[in-house]
Amino acid sequence: MRILIAEDDSALASFVKKGLEAEYYAVDISPNGEHARAMAAEFDYDLLILDLGLPLLDGITVLRSLRDYRPRMPILVLTARNRIEDRVQCLDLGADDYLTKPFSFVELAARIRALLRRSNLPAASTLTVADLKLDRIERRVERGGRRIDLTSKEFALLEYMMRNVGRRVTRAMIIEHVWNLSFDTSTNIVDVYVNYLRRKMDKDFSSPLIHTVRGVGYELSNRPPAQSPQFHI
Ligand code: CA
Repeated sequence: MRILIAEDDSALASFVKKGLEAEYYAVDISPNGEHARAMAAEFDYDLLILDLGLPLLDGITVLRSLRDYRPRMPILVLTARNRIEDRVQCLDLGADDYLTKPFSFVELAARIRALLRRSNLPAASTLTVADLKLDRIERRVERGGRRIDLTSKEFALLEYMMRNVGRRVTRAMIIEHVWNLSFDTSTNIVDVYVNYLRRKMDKDFSSPLIHTVRGVGYELSNRPPAQSPQFHI
């Protein structure tokens, strides 16, 4: 799950980012409205946290223009403006939730979970593929009834692959969704983490779930995917 924070208060932005990363989200920060609008247009975020008082382009304008081309992305407005008119205007313009500063991080995190549950993502809290189970709320992974301990990046990678079960995912898609943008895509970090995951959740089981798709990337599935030799990246 990938979240964009549009916030010009850098201390607050990095506080929220750290908290959300500890809950296994991949998080980017936009320090102004123009940057936020460009990032949300270019990348497929699962949710946007939007401040209203932003430099270059105010949050209301960002909200208005994003609703045209990202109609389904959940937007949570996080602002010091607490007048009823502001709330009403934002909700009418298509914001999905509105939280005023000062706020408690646990409430923000709970509202984010609620928005993500309601959005068009395929699953609520539990994902299941064959005998593999991942619980987003409990942060728990089990295979064949056995608990598997994962680091936060391994958890995010596995969640992304399980959400895309039966579909090929390229290394670039994985980097975009699981790691931050600043990541150097020429490294083999995806392969390294896929190997960590394989060691923890495939090695001791008779049927592996993570498959390599030659020239493309990976696929999580309970049967081996068909290879496509004509496909080269
Ligand atoms: Ca601000």
